[in-house]
Amino acid sequence: MPAKFVLIGSGLAGGLLAAYLGRRGYDVDLYERRADPREGNIVGGRSINLAISTRGIHALKQIGIADDALRHAIPMRGRMIHDKSGELHFAPYDVDPKKCINSIGRASLNTTVIEAAQRYPHVRVHFNHKCTDVHPAEAACHFETETGNLTAHGDAVVGVDGAFSAVRASMQRNIENFQYDESYLAHGYKELTIPPAPDGSWRIEKNALHIWPRKSFMMIALPNPDGSFTCTLFWEFEGPRSFATTKTDDEVRRFFGEEFPDAVPLMPTLLEDFKNNPTGSLVTIRCAPWFYRDRVCLLGDAAHAVVPFYGQGMNAAFEDCVVLDECLQKFANNREQAFAEYFSRRKGNADALADLAVGNFIEMRDKTASRTFRAKKKLDHLLEATLPGAYLPLYTMVTFTRIPYARAARRARLQDRILYTTLVTLVLIGMLALAVLLGRCSHPQ
Ligand SMILES: Cc1cc2nc3c(=O)[nH]c(=O)nc-3n(C[C@H](O)[C@H](O)[C@H](O)COP(=O)(O)OP(=O)(O)OC[C@H]3O[C@@H](n4cnc5c(N)ncnc54)[C@H](O)[C@@H]3O)c2cc1C
Repeated sequence: MPAKFVLIGSGLAGGLLAAYLGRRGYDVDLYERRADPREGNIVGGRSINLAISTRGIHALKQIGIADDALRHAIPMRGRMIHDKSGELHFAPYDVDPKKCINSIGRASLNTTVIEAAQRYPHVRVHFNHKCTDVHPAEAACHFETETGNLTAHGDAVVGVDGAFSAVRASMQRNIENFQYDESYLAHGYKELTIPPAPDGSWRIEKNALHIWPRKSFMMIALPNPDGSFTCTLFWEFEGPRSFATTKTDDEVRRFFGEEFPDAVPLMPTLLEDFKNNPTGSLVTIRCAPWFYRDRVCLLGDAAHAVVPFYGQGMNAAFEDCVVLDECLQKFANNREQAFAEYFSRRKGNADALADLAVGNFIEMRDKTASRTFRAKKKLDHLLEATLPGAYLPLYTMVTFTRIPYARAARRARLQDRILYTTLVTLVLIGMLALAVLLGRCSHPQ
C-alpha cells in the first residue's frame, strides 16, 4: 500500500507538491480552507501577479506543465526606473537579452498546479476545509468545514499552508525545542491598478518591471495579460509620511502627485484602490526543524516566508517541491530520513534567501535610482560577458540559475572582494604611474 500524505493548503506550492507526490504513486488528500480558485476565489492578501524565473520554471518543467503555465505570462527583460521628473532609465536584467523574468497571474498558476495534481488518480482535493489543529505524533488533522468538523489521518502531513501556517503552529505547541522567529518590516504594501488603454494595449512599456524608487519607499508595477498593470506601493506603516498619515483623498492625491507624477494620470481608480485595498504586512519567518519524525513536514512559506523583493518566495517554494521529491525517491523506505535530508538541503538556502530578499529592498527602493548603481550593473554585465562562467552577478545567480541560494550569496561576496581589490590596485597603479610621469616632467633631463 502506498503511503498516504495529507497536505494542508492548496496554494502555489501545495498544488505542485500534490502533483509530484501523485506522480510518485502516493495517496494524497489536499485540504484548502478557501473555495476552489476556478470558482473565482480571489487569493486575498497576496499579490495578484508574481515574477517566475528559472527555479520556478524548472519545477514546473519537471512535472510537464511549464508551457501550460507560461502560456499567458509576460516576459520582463529588465527594470524600467521612473525618476521623479518622469525620466525613464531601462536596466536589463542580464547581459543576455533572452534572459527575463515572467509576470504570471497567481490565480491562473494556482489553477494550473491544482489541475496538474488532479490528473493523478490518487490525488483528491477538498476545498472549504480549514485546518484548525494537527497532532504531529499521529499525523492527524482537524478541520472546520461548512457542514461541521472532521478529522483526517495520514501516514504523514505536509504543511503547505503559507506564512501563517496552522501546521507550523501545531508543531510549535507540540514539539519541544521547536525554534521559531518572525520579523516584520516597518513597511506594508498596497496594490493599485493601471488599467489598459482604450484599445486594450499597455499604457507603459509592457516587457519590463517598472520601479519608482524613492529612497525609503517605492512603487513597482508588473504587467498583466489584459493590458493592465498591478502596482504595489511599499511604504512605511507609521511616520510623518506613511500609510498612517495619508487617509483623505487630498492627502493621497498630494502624496502621489509629489512622488509619482508620471503614474497618476494612468491610475484613474487610484483613490478607490487606495481606500478599498488592504494594506498587507511583510514578514520573514525562520523556524527549525521543518519536520517531525516521519509524520510532519513543512514546505514553502510555511517553512520560510521571505519578503518579496527578490521575487523568489514562490520560486523557492517550487524548488522545495523538487528537492523533497528527490529525497523521497532517495529514501523511499525511510520517510524520516527523506524529511531530514530535505531539511538539511533547504534550510541554509532559505536563510540565505531571507537575507538576500531584505537586502534587495534597499537596492530597489534606493540604489536603482543612482548613477553609481547603473554603472555597477553595466560593469557586472561587462565582466559576465568577458569572463563567461567565471563571473556571475548575484542577481543572475539567484534568478537565472539553480545555484543554491547560500552558495550564490557566498560566491557574490567573494567576487565583490576580488573586484574591489582589483579596482583599488588598478587605481593605485594608475596614481603611481601618474606620479612617476609628473616627476619626470618636473625634472627634465
Ligand atoms: C506582495 C507579494 C509579492 C510577491 N511576489 C512574488 C514574486 O514576484 N515571485 C515569487 O516567487 N514570490 C513572490 N511572493 C511570495 C509568494 O507569494 C509566496 O512565496 C508563495 O505564495 C508561497 O507559496 P505557498 O504555497 O507556500 O503559500 P501560499 O501561496 O500562501 O498558499 C498557502 C495556502 O494554504 C491555505 N491555507 C492557509 N491556512 C490554511 C488552513 N489553516 N487550512 C487550510 N488551508 C490553509 C491558503 O488559503 C493558501 O491557499 C510575493 C509575496 C507577496 C506578499
